Amino acid sequence: MTEEQFDVVVIGGGPCGATAAWDLARAGRSVLLLDRAGRIKPCGGAVPPRLLEEFEVPQSLLVARARSARMVAPSNRAVDMPVGEIGYVGMVDREHFDEWLRQRAADAGAERRTGTYEHVERDNGQGAIVCFRKDRGGAISKVRTSLVIGADGARSGVARENIPGAERNPCVFAYHEIVRSPKTTPQGFDGSRCDVLYQGKLSPDFYAWVFPHGATSSIGVGSANKGFSLRGSVKQMRSELGLDGCETIRSEGAPIPLKPLKRWDNGRDVLVAGDAAGVVAPASGEGIYYAMACGRIAASAALGFLATGNPAMLRHARKAFLRQHGRVFWILGIMQYFWYSSDKRRERFVEMCADRDVQQLTWQAYMNKQLVRAKPMAHVRIFLKDCAHLLGLRPAAG
Ligand SMILES: Cc1cc2nc3c(=O)[nH]c(=O)nc-3n(C[C@H](O)[C@H](O)[C@H](O)COP(=O)(O)OP(=O)(O)OC[C@H]3O[C@@H](n4cnc5c(N)ncnc54)[C@H](O)[C@@H]3O)c2cc1C
Repeated sequence: MTEEQFDVVVIGGGPCGATAAWDLARAGRSVLLLDRAGRIKPCGGAVPPRLLEEFEVPQSLLVARARSARMVAPSNRAVDMPVGEIGYVGMVDREHFDEWLRQRAADAGAERRTGTYEHVERDNGQGAIVCFRKDRGGAISKVRTSLVIGADGARSGVARENIPGAERNPCVFAYHEIVRSPKTTPQGFDGSRCDVLYQGKLSPDFYAWVFPHGATSSIGVGSANKGFSLRGSVKQMRSELGLDGCETIRSEGAPIPLKPLKRWDNGRDVLVAGDAAGVVAPASGEGIYYAMACGRIAASAALGFLATGNPAMLRHARKAFLRQHGRVFWILGIMQYFWYSSDKRRERFVEMCADRDVQQLTWQAYMNKQLVRAKPMAHVRIFLKDCAHLLGLRPAAG
């Protein structure tokens, strides 16, 4: 029997895997994109405009554009942060967004198949043999490949099997309900605004949100605290925000990894990327842009590996990602650790968000996906204000 062979098998057709497969197919490599069927990724769907430009995603995939964020403190003090002229927060529905990305990879030449990854086998031949099932309980299919890219999301089976320590990567668990959007509510629902609630009663260590998606909205919350009731929290939030009467369309949850893995490859024929490699921004939980950026970097490392046969090329993926985004992740990690740890600090954090310098730099960093160097004096001012807030010396933001 002749065995099917691919240069790369990408496991997982989310934003990361679909982007990696698209890039590899466009580079002329034979790629199999294997994705489990039948589940819409639970996700708030907020993306920066930069994602659309960098990854050539059409505006038509946006179901809404938010023009401001409302930060809500434990005291219920609300601070609005208008995005201004520099952009917007785009909203995508993952059901259509992910499918569009997968189809684009197929149109570029990737072979698309539905199936569930089971494990990798190795024999005396070249490369790895990927074993998967087309149907639940069905027979195992096998394909041979030079490289496996594991883009199978948080708690990745590929990472667990091939990267030592991956199963210990910490996660926040996030849960949301998709509801039919109201026109308005007495509490002020606004379909062009993202609400972010920093209240210990709603999340003891992360935040809760209302993200508008046009006809629907995502109402959700995250926490790493296993004993905390995420469903109870969403119920409370819906009741307090006057959203309890809205029709619930879906209720679903999933883990969000909190930290990039220490290793992304097995030194031989497996590389993990996206949520599977732990690349979600701390503090915000933003992962779609980073998954796509990581998919692109993984594809580039894969091309180096395929051209040279040198597994050391795979190590470049993690290095390249952290060179581009490591500092932002580090700062956001400290922010989460410090500002999300008590209601007193959350109150101060929201207070800081009223500061115009903080607003400008936050939005610029979100839009551009890097720390803004253009305004050194603004950084100095924020640093001084930040210190004052940390020390409790400053009663209000200016
Ligand atoms: C509730 C919630 C809200 C979020 N909100 C936002 C937000 O507003 N903005 C934002 O940027 N990020 C958000 N995130 C994070 C974001 O969803 C992820 O970071 C992003 O989806 C990661 O993309 P990925 O391609 O790496 O993994 P995923 O999107 O998880 O894709 C993994 C793919 O692998 C497939 N797969 C899994 N196992 C197998 C298997 N064994 N065999 C075959 N295929 C498999 C899955 O079906 C899926 O298609 C949120 C996450 C959650 C849970």
